[in-house]
Amino acid sequence: MPAPYPGLVPVPPPAPEPAGPEATTGPVPLVLASRPAAGRGRPPRHLADLPLAERRAVVAGLGQPPFRASQLSRHFFGRYTDQADEMSDLPRSARGPLAQALLPRLLTAERELSCDGGTTRKTLWRTFDGALVESVLMRYPDRVTMCVSSQAGCGIACPFCATGQAGLTRNLSTAEIVAQVVAGARLLADSQVPGGPGRVSNIVFMGMGEPLANYASVLGAVRRLTEPVPEGMGISQRSVTVSTVGLVPAIARLAAERLSVTLAVSLHAPDDELRDTLVPVNRRWKVPEVLAAAWDYAAATGRRISIEYALIRDINDQARRADLLGSLLAGRLAHVNLIPLNPTPGSKWTASRPAAQREFVRRLEAHGVPVTVRDTRGREIDGACGQLAASASARTPAPAGR
Ligand code: SAH
Repeated sequence: MPAPYPGLVPVPPPAPEPAGPEATTGPVPLVLASRPAAGRGRPPRHLADLPLAERRAVVAGLGQPPFRASQLSRHFFGRYTDQADEMSDLPRSARGPLAQALLPRLLTAERELSCDGGTTRKTLWRTFDGALVESVLMRYPDRVTMCVSSQAGCGIACPFCATGQAGLTRNLSTAEIVAQVVAGARLLADSQVPGGPGRVSNIVFMGMGEPLANYASVLGAVRRLTEPVPEGMGISQRSVTVSTVGLVPAIARLAAERLSVTLAVSLHAPDDELRDTLVPVNRRWKVPEVLAAAWDYAAATGRRISIEYALIRDINDQARRADLLGSLLAGRLAHVNLIPLNPTPGSKWTASRPAAQREFVRRLEAHGVPVTVRDTRGREIDGACGQLAASASARTPAPAGR
């Protein structure tokens, strides 16, 4: 039942699942007890949190042959299921205990919205402890990109960003990040996204949160997403983009990992005076330091840096700022991704005038800097850049019709 383009339809809730042990009992106490309690409590351990060798050890601890860890991993990363009753290659008696120990249900879909004829889908997820996060799947003719959240909320407080308004609730675990992608992969494999069966080809850490402020979990997720099955999901490192406000030490640390992951830097202003207000962490790490870290990253990885720049009318879209940005980036391994501002509710700011946007592009190009203007998929479902604000959407009644 494809939605009429550019219609907006709530996706019907998934059919109720058979009540497996993990569905009825929630987090497994044994698993929680083995983790140090921190803040609101850690999400239960999941196989996606662990390298394969550690999954084997957990399985052995349950008195099962270690190869069952690979079988479970293939179900999750290759067939996108965590339902024990679908695992016919496992002895019936082992399915429940193995799934309980390594495949607890981490995310429950609270609400799904779609637009662009069903090819853009936003899911609002509820975590085990009630936090809300969002992910967005975008299907294009040649690729499927999933935009994932790395934190519930965000502590950076950029004034133009919806997520930034509510503050940080907590970091997501590696498995909570991976589970967003696996859920999208399952929809595609089941042909639930118009266009026939498909696969997730690209990941962008551009949902809620600052990925480099949750370094260990994000790095774990990058590894899990890019390792081959059964270790992980087998997505190409080159198709993963980590987007950051510019946490300089963490950028250096990521460069040292020698991954082929693309780094996106949310610059939004070429001068410290303006960037101090648009991206408050700039008071700690200034534009020249952030860019120096980015060029080091490019040198270490050979990957082109994506400079993100939300065009905000009369705030950062002046010709002189385009020229300054062009002069900072000229000759560098970088391209600029201009994002027409998606105004958040109540915002006094709005997107640039078309003429200002065209002039901004022209001036960057005159400096020899490659530039693209990002499409704003998912606008109608608040799924576009910077609009992911889960608690607000949870309170808003589901939009109906067009
Ligand atoms: N914290 C990370 C990733 C999440 S946001 C970061 O800042 O890079 C992903 C991108 O969307 C960032 O470039 C962010 O600045 C941008 N963004 C946030 N709010 C926006 C808005 N209202 N309109 C356009 N882009 C926005």
